Amino acid sequence: MPADTKTGFFDRAQLEEREARELNPYAMQARASAGRQHPEPEHEYRTAYQRDRDRIVHSSAFRRLEYKTQVFVNTFGDYYRTRLTHTMEVAQIARTIARALGLNEDLTEAIALGHDIGHGPFGHTGEDALQEVMAEHGGFEHNRHALRIVDVIECKYPEFTGLNLSEEVRQSLLKHSDTALCLEAQVVDAADRIAYNTHDIDDGLTAGMLDERALLQVHIWRDAHAIVGEQRDEERRRYHTVRTLINLAATDLLEASTARILAADPRNPDEARAPSERLVAPSPEMARKQGELSRFLFDNFYNDYRVRRMRRKAHRFILDMFSVLAADTALLPPAGQAAVKKHGTHAGLCDYIAGMTDREALQEYRRLFRANPEAEPA
Ligand code: MG
Repeated sequence: MPADTKTGFFDRAQLEEREARELNPYAMQARASAGRQHPEPEHEYRTAYQRDRDRIVHSSAFRRLEYKTQVFVNTFGDYYRTRLTHTMEVAQIARTIARALGLNEDLTEAIALGHDIGHGPFGHTGEDALQEVMAEHGGFEHNRHALRIVDVIECKYPEFTGLNLSEEVRQSLLKHSDTALCLEAQVVDAADRIAYNTHDIDDGLTAGMLDERALLQVHIWRDAHAIVGEQRDEERRRYHTVRTLINLAATDLLEASTARILAADPRNPDEARAPSERLVAPSPEMARKQGELSRFLFDNFYNDYRVRRMRRKAHRFILDMFSVLAADTALLPPAGQAAVKKHGTHAGLCDYIAGMTDREALQEYRRLFRANPEAEPA
């Protein structure tokens, strides 16, 4: 049992002291948080950032990530990444890096778990379509929408609207605000890229849309391939190669960031976020290799005709739904009508559609446009 505890467990004050003692001086500290919009009493044994993380996990926007697309439409198959599994992979990589860098792991985890909650159905295709219909009504952007979800849309607590998250998490979800990102948010951004680049290779290979021989022209894949070497079991070799890819990128991120942090020698979080070039980022060589991989995936996977077809359909679904519902909001179910009444036709409808999962959007589309939607397979 820890010697200095009256209760027999670590209470919040002790956890905060531990942060002060063990984290680097440029890490964010829960007790130095700029606080919440609506003041609340602190929790007995959770720091402010643990509480933010828990509020995100218990939000309905978070649960819906399970049925939202990463690259494929959610109905495509059960093997592939969804936004939820992507989010968990990002959180895993980000926490590892944050812990090794002596940064605030709870804050990092909160930001990672929330980093994609602003996405509507059908990934970036859905975002493009919502942008189109909202062009003259304030636009749509998934990071801005993430903030709207946690500030306005999630209504769970009797005392306030939204999740009342700490200012640090709110700013980090917005990603580009006037103030530069804290190192914890920089870690999440870098981990996001590592995660999607590597798991999209895995998904693309599994779907048969990527060719492993063609991948050998990509430097970073070749590096990982050489480390793994020849092995008898194809599936294990591929898994091992993907794992090696994550390890190469994460190790580079850790080493390159450490070198930059040592050179800049920031004494506090403000000094750490001040440089115009981020302190937490891959080395220039790794950044080039990741760029090369991104371009390869763009040309060979995201532009595969089957993926393009899914995107084309998804884009049309959203435009059609939006225009029919905007012209006659009485077609909306009660929750949608309430949103329109509260925020106006366009903003309310945008919230309503952006909140849908892929399959809800497909269902709603069928209900609006098909003669006998119940007879169609899900
Ligand atoms: Mg992401």
